[in-house]
Order: sequence, then structure tokens, then C-alpha cells
Amino acid sequence: MEKINLEKYKGIIFDMDGVIFNISEAIEKAVDDSVEKYEMNVNTDEIMEELAHLIEEIQNYPIPKILLNSYDLLQVRFLEGLSYFKKLRIAIFLFNQFNKYKDAESSIYTGIDELISKIYDKKLKLAILTNNKSQYAEEVLEKFNLNKFFSTIIGFNEVSEVKPSPEGIIKILDKWNIKPSEAIFIGDMTTDIEAGKSANVKMICVASGLAKKETLQEHNPDILVDNTEELINLFGFQ
Ligand SMILES: [Mg+2]
Repeated sequence: MEKINLEKYKGIIFDMDGVIFNISEAIEKAVDDSVEKYEMNVNTDEIMEELAHLIEEIQNYPIPKILLNSYDLLQVRFLEGLSYFKKLRIAIFLFNQFNKYKDAESSIYTGIDELISKIYDKKLKLAILTNNKSQYAEEVLEKFNLNKFFSTIIGFNEVSEVKPSPEGIIKILDKWNIKPSEAIFIGDMTTDIEAGKSANVKMICVASGLAKKETLQEHNPDILVDNTEELINLFGFQ
């Protein structure tokens, strides 16, 4: 497989959830709890990406916006065929369970901290670009002692358009005063691929479990790896 030559780059932008922080298990457990409690009949493999997006959106929006958009937000396959109020009840339960598991049990991917520290040692600039709150990213980084590596954190509150818009990436490149060709963006969702490609940076996608690999492939990232281990190998530190 192709290796990344870090000499060619000046900055690396990381997505948070699904690249550094592993929320797959929290989502899976929340889905399992909801399926059990509400006796739902669904194939959970099919719906993970959709629910990951839903959870991300619910986390971002202020309550009035969630309420005003709740009808559209709840148009997910997971809740298909249910009444609006049942959808709402299940979504709130799912979200609460997700937060519980995320705070108590979620961790960073094995080896990602070492990769970050090695890139930092090579004097590259590092940033986080998340569709979540930047404060959330800061808390996670602090919890796992990674905050010292990241000079820039951009969340949904720092941009007018979240990913798939390239705005966040462009903002970071401007701040660093570097060209798109000197930067890499690492994400795990189709929205990340779109943002990276529109910003003309090198786009590396990690199929970390929430989005299906075939779906990610269809969006043509520059490089698609199966997991964190492959991502680390790509940088040739092993
Ligand atoms: Mg992500």
C-alpha cells in the first residue's frame, strides 16, 4: 500500500469521532437497548451510519432547532413506520443511552495517541475539525492527554456551514497559512470525504465501523483504510 511521506506536508487535520474517539460501541449499545425496550424489529448493521449522523446532528443543534426539525430528523430507516410520538420517544431514549455509554465507556482507538504524538514530533501542525462542539473535542482530548498536540480546534460553532462543506478545512489552512496540497484531512464519514475533496487536501478515510466501506469507496477518498492499525501503517511509523 501507498505510504504517506510526511516531508511533503505541513499540517494534518483530524476528525474526532470515528478517527480518534471510538463511539461505535456506544452507538451499538444504545441501539441494542432501544431495540430491546421498544421491541423493534430491525437489522442494526444497516442503520449505524444513519444513526451516527442523527446523533451528531442532535448533539449540534440547540433544542428549539431540534424541535422545529424533529419531523425531518426522525425520517430514518431505524424508525420507519412508527408514529411521530413513538419516533420521538425512541430517539430521546437512544440519545440518552448513547450519552451514558459515551461518557462512561468510550475510549480512543488503540495506537492513535502514538500516531498523533509522532506526527507532532515531526513538527507538523495538528488540528481537529468536528461537526460537534469544539468544547466536546477539547474535553475528549484533555481526558486522553492529547490536548497539547492540537493548536487548532474547529467545531460547528466556529463555521457557518459544517462538513460536507469545506469551510472548516479552508479556515484551518488559512490560519496555518499553508496550501491545500500541504495538508491531509483524516475522517471516517462520507461527509468528511466530500469536505476534504472540496478543499483539495489529501483525503484519508478510515472505515472505522459506522459507515460501510463500500459506501465510503463510492465517494472516492484519496486513500481508504480499514482501521486505525492500517492508518498508522500508512504513515510508516512501525
Ligand atoms: Mg467522524
